[in-house]
Amino acid sequence: MYPASFRYHRPSGLHDALELLSRHRADAAVLAGGQSLVPRMNLRQATPKNIVDLNRIAELSKLAVADDVLEIGAMVRHQSFCHEGAIGVLSLPSNLAELLGRMAGAIGNLPVRLRGTIGGSLANASPKAQWALLSFLLDADIMIENAGGRAASAIRNS
Ligand SMILES: Cc1cc2nc3c(=O)[nH]c(=O)nc-3n(C[C@H](O)[C@H](O)[C@H](O)COP(=O)(O)OP(=O)(O)OC[C@H]3O[C@@H](n4cnc5c(N)ncnc54)[C@H](O)[C@@H]3O)c2cc1C
Repeated sequence: MYPASFRYHRPSGLHDALELLSRHRADAAVLAGGQSLVPRMNLRQATPKNIVDLNRIAELSKLAVADDVLEIGAMVRHQSFCHEGAIGVLSLPSNLAELLGRMAGAIGNLPVRLRGTIGGSLANASPKAQWALLSFLLDADIMIENAGGRAASAIRNS
């Protein structure tokens, strides 16, 4: 099947993406890796009138360590955490690097890992998803932003 028709938006900055989402509200869906959204659109389980594609927004692909905190942008791909991925250049404690690598390496298959993102996985909110479980186990803080501002949402295991 083919998806219902929609308008495609490809902003190159976060500000523009948030403005588009604010303008179209319930008529808009964010496109990240497309691994969950696109099949739903093809089956017409999701029929957004506007797609806001985040793939051109460089600031969402940030992966860095600052003040002993690992910061992961919403558009960082699952594969970034595997052996040959971007995580390798960060000096993470070896047990954390191994945990992230083993966890990400168990997600789906290679095409899913190359396209799928941590933000898409968390927004998708599947209770079976690896990132949801790991965020809970590691007491992650999730930064949530809309056109009105930014807030932190804590996922606490304790
Ligand atoms: C064959 C297959 C096997 C899989 N196996 C596993 C597995 O073993 N373990 C696992 O955890 N997952 C698995 N997945 C899911 C995979 O991890 C997807 O990558 C993930 O569910 C969605 O990420 P995505 O980047 O593709 O998001 P998309 O499909 O683009 O988006 C998913 C949803 O999240 C919303 N969204 C995306 N990004 C954002 C954002 N930054 N802010 C707000 N909303 C956003 C979208 O609008 C949409 O509603 C599998 C998927 C497939 C197709």
